[in-house]
Amino acid sequence: MVERLIIIGSGPAGYTAAIYGVRDGLDPLLIRGFQAGGQLTITSDVENFPGFTSILGPDLMDKMYEQIKSLKCRTIDDDVTKVDFGHYPYRIFVEEKVYEAYSIIIATGANAKWLGLANEKRLVGKGVSGCATCDGPFFRNKDVVVVGGGDSAMEDATYLSKIAKSVTIIHRKGSFRASKAMQDKALSDKKIKVIWNTEVEDVLGADRISGLKIKNSVTGKEATFPTEGLFVAIGHEPNTGPFRGQIDVDESGYVVTHAVTRTSKEGIFAAGDVQDRHYKQAVVAAGFGCMAAIDAREFLAGKKLI
Ligand code: NDP
Repeated sequence: MVERLIIIGSGPAGYTAAIYGVRDGLDPLLIRGFQAGGQLTITSDVENFPGFTSILGPDLMDKMYEQIKSLKCRTIDDDVTKVDFGHYPYRIFVEEKVYEAYSIIIATGANAKWLGLANEKRLVGKGVSGCATCDGPFFRNKDVVVVGGGDSAMEDATYLSKIAKSVTIIHRKGSFRASKAMQDKALSDKKIKVIWNTEVEDVLGADRISGLKIKNSVTGKEATFPTEGLFVAIGHEPNTGPFRGQIDVDESGYVVTHAVTRTSKEGIFAAGDVQDRHYKQAVVAAGFGCMAAIDAREFLAGKKLI
């Protein structure tokens, strides 16, 4: 059996694409992945998704899953291991099983990179965050730290300075790699300070972050730095492993799209953080999921496959 539409990924982009696909009569197959739900499953309070004054990230994803189940969308809870986009209908491998589809939506997301510290993940949602836009408003009038030296760190620090009492950028080198304009903006902000040549070695705190263990990489001197928040801004890793070499991805691995969700292969669309290196917001991903489903429907109609 050849599927009309296979959607890969189960964050807001994948679920929204599934809702539109089902309601358009495409009977999509949604491959949710082994760790379903995406980045929102590892956040706590979400206050910027319309319709919810405040909701826990995992609860929001459960609601999206309930919605697609109520629409009787077919799902597979396993990871895509390989694809063959040189063959049409396109082939998707889930372990030993092969699925064929006339159109595909890739919505596998991107993971925030973490520092890999012993107590970092334990305190995510308890003062540690990978998304300033999402969690910044919880840190009003607090002292926070941003780690990183790229554009993301500059952008996060500048954004947080409007909310927090103080922002300290801790960077492992003696200079930033961020663009000059964004560096200038951050460095001229009176609320932002920089600690250069310093690595964060661990996050301190029992139930909430209380500080950081830091080490100067030049002198080797260790210290404790008190803070109420840690924003890790050291980049993202798009989940495009199985697709590389099959469709165009950029130098960082994000799927390259044009007009608006089309990829380099006809009939293959991408939605959400897997192709969005800028906004990285759940509501934006949901919007992209909607657009990809409409684009897939129009593609299938043009090919007289529906
Ligand atoms: P980058 O890869 O550009 O920068 C990552 C930063 O994190 C670097 O300074 C790096 O340090 C540091 N870093 C990486 N790993 C660690 C670690 N383990 N410990 C401590 N520090 C670490 O990522 P960004 O997310 O900043 O940017 C990605 C892309 O997105 C870039 O092309 C950027 O220009 C773009 N972007 C554009 C924006 C805009 O124009 N508004 C906003 C945000 C991003 P080091 O320098 O030592 O390698």
